[in-house]
Amino acid sequence: MKIVLIRTNAPALQLVPPLGIGYISAYLNKHSVETVIIDGLRDNIDNETILGLALKEKPDAVGITCLTAAYNEVIDMAHLIKNNNIKCIIGGVHPSFIPFQTLKDSKADFVICGEGEKSFLQLLRNNFINDGIKGVYSIDNLKDERQKIDFSDPLEDLDEIPVPDWKKIMPYKYEGRPAGLIYKKTPIGYVMTSRGCASNCTFCASPGFYKRNVRFRSVENVIDEILELRDNYGIKEIKFIDDNLVLDKKRAMKLFDLMIENKINMPWGCTSGLRANNVDEEIVAKMKEAGCYNFNIGIESANPQILLNVNKQETIEQITNAINLADKYKIVCGGFFVFDLPGETKETMLESINYAKKSKLTLATFNILDILPGSKLWEDLDYKFDRNDLQYSYSQPRCLLGNLNKDDITKAQKKAFMAFYLRPKIIFKLLKFIKKEPVKYFFKRILKIV
Ligand code: SF4
Repeated sequence: MKIVLIRTNAPALQLVPPLGIGYISAYLNKHSVETVIIDGLRDNIDNETILGLALKEKPDAVGITCLTAAYNEVIDMAHLIKNNNIKCIIGGVHPSFIPFQTLKDSKADFVICGEGEKSFLQLLRNNFINDGIKGVYSIDNLKDERQKIDFSDPLEDLDEIPVPDWKKIMPYKYEGRPAGLIYKKTPIGYVMTSRGCASNCTFCASPGFYKRNVRFRSVENVIDEILELRDNYGIKEIKFIDDNLVLDKKRAMKLFDLMIENKINMPWGCTSGLRANNVDEEIVAKMKEAGCYNFNIGIESANPQILLNVNKQETIEQITNAINLADKYKIVCGGFFVFDLPGETKETMLESINYAKKSKLTLATFNILDILPGSKLWEDLDYKFDRNDLQYSYSQPRCLLGNLNKDDITKAQKKAFMAFYLRPKIIFKLLKFIKKEPVKYFFKRILKIV
């Protein structure tokens, strides 16, 4: 059996390998299913071209990964696949939470809800009959979006899944728009050592998708992947994309020790963000020793009441402590802020801007709240997905949760970026990191907002 796995070419600021389909591919291969990966985003090709490549493979089925931002491109791709009478399966975060509309709009045969490795394989082994396969739905199984959905059973032992199918993904081809704005060396390898997050922030989709079921790969397995990326694919820098790499301190320390012992000798960073309450001096010192030059922190707001409102379960003191430790060990620290969270006012946005300026952060992003399918906020607000509204993700207010109007929020966002970055000390600190391609990307990103 042969399956083509596709990522469509939806507009995206970052160009990061599609780890989701990379894992599916590796897992299917392990169970003797042949796969081909087509990454339309990396190759900058349209759906017609992707279709041509897919048809050449004469696949038994096509799987398409779908983030909310890529919804329209995925629907169009699914139509092209179905017009050629090929079985079509859509997976990823978006269809996991909006399966009915995805099936209706796309005419796909199935959506897979939750982590897809196990259920994708079951569906193939069951000859595309989804009876009794948890998390796999066809349009005949669903009445509307309110129907209760079961997620696929996740794999509890992550070491059972081989590392992403790097041979087909070709990680050295992902250059120019790195996650996290800065890098030291290319090509960059993106590594996920765990799945899920133990916290429950109301604006985040991770708790809904992983059900707060945090699972870790063994650190030996992670080291093997890093060595493979370095030695077989010429990767020169690692970016960890876990929800919180230091959640389990003992494991994190062991991982960093093994990186030192194995002479990984590559610069690395934590792009997605660490939780400040898990950052202490012992960890930061060990990270530095193991080659870390950058980590980011999800700050969200400098206002304690807003942190309470979104169930952040962190204090401003913990956040400041983590930033100061990064500074002490000469690690570049980035902070993620979000405007328009519940309880936001002009004053609280100003509080965040002033905090960012006074802090020892070197990087800061000030996003506007996006109400994500699967987040608690989405459920609480009974929010409706609008496929005509996708281009404004993170840059335009979608939902006003307080007394602010859209203009207040976008103005504050512009002000925040200008106030933070237009300072000689920040420009000077960043100069050594910003090079060639990313410099264009970096300023495009800032200017798009400012
Ligand atoms: S925002 Fe970060 S800490 Fe909060 S639930 Fe999401 S991944 Fe976890």
